[in-house]
Amino acid sequence: MIQSSKEFFQNLPPKECTKCGEVFEEMAECYYHQCDKCVSEIR
Ligand SMILES: [Zn+2]
Repeated sequence: MIQSSKEFFQNLPPKECTKCGEVFEEMAECYYHQCDKCVSEIR
């Protein structure tokens, strides 16, 4: 069975911020485990 890439990505669990638990959109070139808000607080 061939699974389309679209279905594959839809089956991935949403990325959650490890700090506040908020689901955020993963950016292609960023591998932070916090959302934008928490990352900016850390820096
Ligand atoms: Zn956060």
